Amino acid sequence: MQLNTIMAHDHIRILGVRIDDVTEDEAVAQALAMIHAGGAHQICTVNPEFVMEARRNPEFRAVLEAADLTTPDGFGLLLAARYCGRPLRGRVTGVELTLRLAELAVQQGLRIFLLGAAPGVAEQAAGVLGRRYPGLMIAGCFAGSPHPRHEPFLRQLIRAAHPDILLVAYGHPRQDLWIARNQPYLGVPVAIGIGGVFDYLSGRVPRAPRWLRRLGLEWAYRLIRQPMRWRRIFDAVPAFSWAVLHDRRR
Ligand code: UDP
Repeated sequence: MQLNTIMAHDHIRILGVRIDDVTEDEAVAQALAMIHAGGAHQICTVNPEFVMEARRNPEFRAVLEAADLTTPDGFGLLLAARYCGRPLRGRVTGVELTLRLAELAVQQGLRIFLLGAAPGVAEQAAGVLGRRYPGLMIAGCFAGSPHPRHEPFLRQLIRAAHPDILLVAYGHPRQDLWIARNQPYLGVPVAIGIGGVFDYLSGRVPRAPRWLRRLGLEWAYRLIRQPMRWRRIFDAVPAFSWAVLHDRRR
């Protein structure tokens, strides 16, 4: 599917946070429409941790509200949406969106910039994407830092590279706040916060097997592989579920 205009999409609200009811195909078509439209567009890949963070952090909440597209990344959002009687049509994860955008970039001759993750990881991820999608044009790779004092340099670097799509891997909420603050100065039509995607693509962090992902048990895999994340997993699974149940009852 190809759309040349940016469509308004149906959305739902989970704990007050807007989540667009888009499929993977529609999200890719929307990104292309944003590139054709020019200007500056922000895409956020939302999961339950985002929703919980947005409840505590008004600045992050405002960024999600103002984003041009908020995709349902987390399995928990699909369950919550169904429980609230407004099922979403599908899941659009940061990993899949990144792969689909790389494919689109080859088809359309677009340039991608990879910002964030530990030094060298974005380059490894770009190598993986380049092998998977021959002809992919990488406008640049840079680890950098989400700290505001690095912003003037990063703005110059990215602006000079002329990417069409900017992938930012600083984890939420930093990456999304970073994009909201900086995108007006970058000259990039589409910027997306993609969390740990470069870690997955580079193989530094293993992704849960597909069958576990299908069962919505990615969190259990992460808990075993990265026990340091227990607090975040607590937020994403029991705390989020409890908040949704409580909210619906009210
Ligand atoms: N990261 C970074 N600089 C920072 C903080 C994080 O480059 O100051 C990177 C980190 O190396 C990792 C990504 O941001 O690649 C965060 O991944 P995570 O899976 O935690 O993303 P989230 O689930 O928070 O979106």
